[in-house]
Amino acid sequence: PGTLHVVATPIGNLGDLSPRALDTLKGVDAICAEDTRHTRQLLSHFGVERPLLALHQHNEEAQSEQLVARMLAGDQLALVSDAGTPLVSDPGFRLVAAARAAGVRVSPVPGACAAIAALSVAGIASDRFVFEGFLPAKGGARRERLSHLAAEARTLIFYESAHRIEESLADLGAAFGGERPAVLARELTKLFETVLDGTLASLGEQVAADANQRKGEFVLVVQGAGDDTDARLVEGRRLYQKLAGHLP
Ligand code: SAM
Repeated sequence: PGTLHVVATPIGNLGDLSPRALDTLKGVDAICAEDTRHTRQLLSHFGVERPLLALHQHNEEAQSEQLVARMLAGDQLALVSDAGTPLVSDPGFRLVAAARAAGVRVSPVPGACAAIAALSVAGIASDRFVFEGFLPAKGGARRERLSHLAAEARTLIFYESAHRIEESLADLGAAFGGERPAVLARELTKLFETVLDGTLASLGEQVAADANQRKGEFVLVVQGAGDDTDARLVEGRRLYQKLAGHLP
């Protein structure tokens, strides 16, 4: 049978596509991509001309069976997403699970991942961490999620987009306390890369004060709750958040 090669692509800087990723993409029968137009641009930059198949959250379930059948018949397929490592806040989980269930070899070609890149420069304890991906878009659901994370002792990593970064920092400050240390990594590996450090409150202020700091893509790394984080304080905040939704 063939193999499913799970290939990481750059998160901004094209120099981060590894030589092995390039060789793999050149050698497969087809490349499954989240957005074929986006991936075609990347591949044409590197002179790769392989057939592209769309695999996104809306068709992944339906496509997986067919793709697995191709690999069982001997095809080599690659899986990429728009940026970074597939399956990390990106499609691919269902295809990988289906391939493994069918006994198809699944092999990684590792590379860029925004969460790990941010953690590697944050200077916040990195021996134990939790990746939370994107917070819920709706305010109520987001605050509910945060109330459950306020006492988490491990370092927390969040993804955020430009249009919600201010709201999320405000909600994080309310749930965890504004004094909690955090690092905001923006546009990593790109021209306007910035890594701001401070507290949830001071990061909120910096982002509010400078419109440029609200542009682009963000990873937020938040220190875990320490022994000094009073459990009663956390519980108090959680209750307050819950009640605040019901107050006029
Ligand atoms: N699979 C990707 C990875 O391995 O990081 C993540 C895909 S997710 C749909 C996109 C989010 O990742 C963005 O909203 C942002 O939070 C984060 N991200 C991606 N590229 C980034 C970059 N260059 N700088 C900061 N954050 C980035």
